[in-house]
Amino acid sequence: MDHFDIVIVGGGIAGASLGAEVAGEARVLLIEAESYPGMHSTGRSAAFWLESYGGAGVAPLSTASKDFLANPPVEFAESGFLSPRGTIHVDSTGHVDAFAFLPASVETLAMSRAELEAAIPGISPRWVQARSEPGCADIDVAGLHAAYLRQYRRRGGTLWADARLASAHRGGEWWTVMIEDGLSVTADTLVNAAGAWADPVATACEVAPLGIAPKRRTMVQLRVGHSGLSRLPQVSDAAGSFYFKGEGDRSVWVSPHDEIATEACDAQPEEIDIAVAIDRFEKAVDWPVERVERSWAGLRSFAPDRLPVIGYDVAAPGFFWFAGQGGFGIQTAPAAAKLAAAGLLGREPDPMVVGFDAAIYSPARFAPR
Ligand SMILES: Cc1cc2nc3c(=O)[nH]c(=O)nc-3n(C[C@H](O)[C@H](O)[C@H](O)COP(=O)(O)OP(=O)(O)OC[C@H]3O[C@@H](n4cnc5c(N)ncnc54)[C@H](O)[C@@H]3O)c2cc1C
Repeated sequence: MDHFDIVIVGGGIAGASLGAEVAGEARVLLIEAESYPGMHSTGRSAAFWLESYGGAGVAPLSTASKDFLANPPVEFAESGFLSPRGTIHVDSTGHVDAFAFLPASVETLAMSRAELEAAIPGISPRWVQARSEPGCADIDVAGLHAAYLRQYRRRGGTLWADARLASAHRGGEWWTVMIEDGLSVTADTLVNAAGAWADPVATACEVAPLGIAPKRRTMVQLRVGHSGLSRLPQVSDAAGSFYFKGEGDRSVWVSPHDEIATEACDAQPEEIDIAVAIDRFEKAVDWPVERVERSWAGLRSFAPDRLPVIGYDVAAPGFFWFAGQGGFGIQTAPAAAKLAAAGLLGREPDPMVVGFDAAIYSPARFAPR
């Protein structure tokens, strides 16, 4: 039976980025249940870096990741993964605290109605306040994920696709990991980077789940009767009922901001959520919707406090959590992977995450007191 220092379960952005960080320093096996990594949440995102997203507990990870995403080291990638987009947060209530959810650390600017109309011609008059967040950028998610997998392999990491963890048992100093096709390996440490399956994977490893809940989110690409939209800023309702951004000259990506509790699965869009997306979009701007070009859904998985879970389980020796990346797993990946690597290997944190309070992300926060 092959023995590894670390087995990572899940080949999405979480498993790939952490694998790339630690592969040079340990014998690592990354197992991915599907025939290629990135098929689930990582391949279905809205692909933006929005610093304010996720609140004050998540923003430091997004902020710390930006330089790496914009200007990665040459040995990692030949060019950056970000292209400028900008976000406009809009509000229909007129309340003074409508934008209070924006962390104070993030640069945002008040916009006049005239500025809003100039940026988004056809925006409905119901939006009475707006704030721009100029730093928002698109992320080349496929490129970033591929670069992490490339670095992982270059550093000697082993990747098995079509390799679903069936169960794992810790006896003495190591884990015996059973894979569905009958293969098994042993490992000192098991990393749970299984996204929506984080709790089921923990259970299959005889570890208590943490309540990491998958929530379905829908994306719809609409063809509309308005042109010049490719670089349209992201427009986001401050009350959280939709966002949209330009995709092609006459197409937009729209999300109804749905967050529907579900089992871990191959998520598919529901007709009702597509209809809600169109309805909310049509109430936001006066551009006629011509057709739905495509739609998809994915799972965003949240711990009970909606912060990521990074660290060793308090009760199960050698079981490391890297899960609960919610709707921010791509934009936080560089910093989150460096923080996780420091915890996993017990080494000094990389300068990117020096000074971070790792305790706020530790699974110990859920331990009974
Ligand atoms: C619609 C939508 C929009 C989003 N927009 C953004 C955005 O704009 N910006 C952003 O930063 N984030 C965004 N996100 C969130 C982001 O996509 C996720 O946080 C991130 O992809 C999570 O990565 P992951 O590796 O944890 O999960 P996944 O990519 O789902 O990877 C987990 C992997 O584990 C594998 N697995 C599960 N069980 C097993 C097992 N037993 N054995 C082996 N392998 C297993 C799965 O097959 C899967 O490939 C969005 C998400 C959605 C759904």
